[in-house]
Amino acid sequence: MKRSHDVVVIGAGAAGMMCAAQAGQRGRRVLLIEHFDVVGEKIRISGGGRCNFTNVNANPTSYLSRNPDFCRSALARYTPAHFVGLIERYGIGYHEKKLGQLFCDRSAHDIIAMLKAECARGAVEWKMPCAVDAVARDDEGFRVVTAHGDATCSSLVVATGGLTVPKIGATPFGYRLAAQFGLEVITPTPALVPLAMPPAFLAQFGALSGAAVEVEVTHGAGRFRENLLFTHRGLSGPAILQISSYWDGRTSIDIDLLPDLDAASWLRAHADSSARMDNVLAERLPARLARAWCLAHDVAVPMRMLPDQRLREVGAQLNRWQVQPSGTLGFNKAEVTLGGVDTRRLSSKTMGALDVPGLYFVGEVVDVTGWLGGYNFQWAWASGHAAGQVV
Ligand SMILES: Cc1cc2nc3c(=O)[nH]c(=O)nc-3n(C[C@H](O)[C@H](O)[C@H](O)COP(=O)(O)OP(=O)(O)OC[C@H]3O[C@@H](n4cnc5c(N)ncnc54)[C@H](O)[C@@H]3O)c2cc1C
Repeated sequence: MKRSHDVVVIGAGAAGMMCAAQAGQRGRRVLLIEHFDVVGEKIRISGGGRCNFTNVNANPTSYLSRNPDFCRSALARYTPAHFVGLIERYGIGYHEKKLGQLFCDRSAHDIIAMLKAECARGAVEWKMPCAVDAVARDDEGFRVVTAHGDATCSSLVVATGGLTVPKIGATPFGYRLAAQFGLEVITPTPALVPLAMPPAFLAQFGALSGAAVEVEVTHGAGRFRENLLFTHRGLSGPAILQISSYWDGRTSIDIDLLPDLDAASWLRAHADSSARMDNVLAERLPARLARAWCLAHDVAVPMRMLPDQRLREVGAQLNRWQVQPSGTLGFNKAEVTLGGVDTRRLSSKTMGALDVPGLYFVGEVVDVTGWLGGYNFQWAWASGHAAGQVV
């Protein structure tokens, strides 16, 4: 029986468009199905509207997965330099902000327009907005049942992303499809997400909302030196978003408020001072934070009133402030989803399901999650590209 298409890609986000364009440009007849009424919404809202589209430092150690080596092959074969080469061919201006993060000079719309143009070069057909009702396997491939008729194909690519920001299109469809075909799904949880703090913490620090400070934050295998932001619900800022991906959901995270300093030695050098500790700390920390922190630790008193042992303790606490989040702000506020389709039954070369010939998973739906800073788009491009070469 003649197939309506060689390849059907479900989900027109970063990974889906990259994959469809690559396959189309290889001469494959590709259909891209998107259920939302606008394409590339996550790209549009990313990076504050300027899309942090890659990170020049992207390498496998910047990704979390049950299977840490899985991302290695795809990332090695489609690097940040490849994507930069692509946007340069389209004349899209870009700049590095910090820590290897590349942003568009003008707007994230430039990236979306480029991906659509790349799909057009590959004569990719579109169905959108179009809901997929069911997927069934037959002898020659797959039948995709949609609100606008069926499509048949030999390769089916699932690029439906994670669960973040449901109001712009996120669905658990990809996970359900994986389960339908016998693949395991590592429980999806919000990552790169602000942390909620309990009422007692908010009573002490909630008034600092808007204050930022550079810290080093650690939990488990994660360690990041970046800004921390106090909010009226808890903690945010790049340092907290990064560590949220490593947080176990139960125990405390460690914050070094003075990462360049042995705080105990520094405080002890002020031991004879009549200045209050919060005024001394305000030399190195925002004054409002210094005050709130000293009140919370019962040390908003003249330095000379504190015995040496207490100065040592307080110094240690400044270098290792242990805070216990009560939770995260959830998928509505998260940038990515940790977990997803278990990579142990996927090929790291092709993204294909080892036990279901013709079925592929690319992008965030897969259990590969990058750090903050362009790493997640690089995974979307690289995994979409890997599948696009073989479907
Ligand atoms: C606010 C925010 C800012 C971000 N900023 C950055 C950044 O600057 N840099 C970075 O690297 N990453 C950033 N990210 C993460 C990045 O956007 C994602 O990792 C990336 O978009 C994942 O690409 P994807 O193609 O796998 O999924 P998505 O881009 O989410 O695309 C999935 C597509 O599938 C569609 N879909 C879902 N279900 C169905 C269905 N049942 N049928 C048909 N279609 C379906 C969706 O509508 C969507 O269009 C940000 C995320 C958020 C939320």
